Amino acid sequence: MDFIHQLLNIVLPPSALLLLCFLLPPYFAFKCLRYVKRSICNENVAGKVVLITGASSGIGEYLAYEYGRRGACLALVARREDRLNEVAIKASELGSPDVIVIRADVSKVEDSKRFIDETVNHFGRLDHLVNNAGITKISMFEDANSISDFHSIMNVNFWGSLNATHLAVPHLRKSKGKIVVISSIAGWFPTPRLSFYNASKAAVTSLFDTLRTEFGSDIGITIVTPGLIESEMTEPELISEARMYFILVESTETCAKAIVSAACRGERYVTEPSWTGVLFVVKLLCPEVVEYFSRLLLINRPMCLKKNA
Ligand code: NAD
Repeated sequence: MDFIHQLLNIVLPPSALLLLCFLLPPYFAFKCLRYVKRSICNENVAGKVVLITGASSGIGEYLAYEYGRRGACLALVARREDRLNEVAIKASELGSPDVIVIRADVSKVEDSKRFIDETVNHFGRLDHLVNNAGITKISMFEDANSISDFHSIMNVNFWGSLNATHLAVPHLRKSKGKIVVISSIAGWFPTPRLSFYNASKAAVTSLFDTLRTEFGSDIGITIVTPGLIESEMTEPELISEARMYFILVESTETCAKAIVSAACRGERYVTEPSWTGVLFVVKLLCPEVVEYFSRLLLINRPMCLKKNA
């Protein structure tokens, strides 16, 4: 047994690298052609039914406007009904033929069941489920008074997405629909002061990557990993150097447009702004460098994240 592992340890890495050198150029050519084909024959969501969680502000709000502009019927879910009603009016003005508002907390299974049922009872179908609702808390791990204060992050970000997905799957199978899930680059980039949030987003990415393999082509899954996007979550009060904020932040509208376009093209992943995808490669190839600069910029000289904001 051990002999086989020793042999594979020696033979497999160089042969895999050699194989990749031959396979990568045709693979990337295939991906380019597929991108062009999907851009031309992308999904038309006019008249389709889209449910968006966390639609009362930020990315969720602008996703409602972008889907509305494309003529989709909308079910908007969040806890602040007054804000949802304002978003619903604007989405209708932009072109959505029918918008309903459902006040709910995604971390509660009974609420998730209610908003999925209300959506399907009202529209008769569900085509896109957008798991967007999310929260964060900024704190160094050792500064946390009680770990239970951070349970809510997992309850909303991870269990909230999972509850809604589990209940929506039978309807999405019928419509051959799609799931869009808003994860974060924080799921793979070790941003200090966000350990609980980072872990919740890593769990979300892993869950939906696995579900994609289980669902095959029956239900499409687009995992979104935004960088720094303008929203209530990233208000300048939370960011100590507003100068850095304005350089790095992307507008909510640009982000939402990119997400809906990618979902309609059937993309597996979207990173917004797309240049932040380079950080993934840097982290993969030189993790020590990423760790050094993260400590330098965000712990020793906290440039972006305020402590205990
Ligand atoms: P936001 O605070 O403006 O929006 C979050 C939305 O989720 C709000 O509508 C809020 O009311 C809702 N929400 C929170 N808890 C909820 C609950 N228990 N039940 C129902 N709704 C709830 O922030 P945002 O930046 O628009 O965040 C949207 C998503 O994008 C989140 O999942 C967040 O983690 C992710 N994200 C944001 C950024 C960024 O830079 N803004 C970066 C990466 C990922």
